[in-house]
Amino acid sequence: MAITLPQLPFEKDALAPYITANTLDFHYGKHHKAYVDNLNKLIEGTELAAKSLEEIIKIAAKDSAKTGIFNNAAQVWNHSFYWQCLKKAGGGAPTGAVAEKIKATWGNFEKFADDLKNAGITQFGSGWAWLISEGNELKITKTANADTPIAHGQKPLLTIDVWEHAYYLDYQNRRPDYLSAVIQNLINWDFVNANLG
Ligand code: MN
Repeated sequence: MAITLPQLPFEKDALAPYITANTLDFHYGKHHKAYVDNLNKLIEGTELAAKSLEEIIKIAAKDSAKTGIFNNAAQVWNHSFYWQCLKKAGGGAPTGAVAEKIKATWGNFEKFADDLKNAGITQFGSGWAWLISEGNELKITKTANADTPIAHGQKPLLTIDVWEHAYYLDYQNRRPDYLSAVIQNLINWDFVNANLG
């Protein structure tokens, strides 16, 4: 089964002005699509062609001869997950079970937001900031390049892409402003709560 590019869960202009349709045209239409196309070429005719995306990531993560497959597969997964973490008129403090867990772990939303933003700012070069669940505890982490929590037995709840292609057209070098805008205006907390369940 070929790996497919999922539909965006919102209209291309829905996240503006925080993430513009111009950014999505490149980020989703070019970058995410390229990872899907590259992965399908790399697994065509191999035993991995019959596996799910999650299985491909876990197999390739353990095999240094499959770095290219891992990078493309993990980037396909991370981007599909990232789009679902975003919505128009989202962000700000959450409600539901994740709100209780954030309060129990960080004390308040503002401290959580600062820590998540800082994870994104301090990821040197390309990568991802994450909220994950591990052993029933919430943690903020960051990964480099294509790396993904699902390769490490962790359960992702939320991610923010901090590759330059995620923000450069809208924010140029101002990664902190992009992170603040996403955290305060775009996080889809319903999706995060569903991941926690
Ligand atoms: Mn990206």
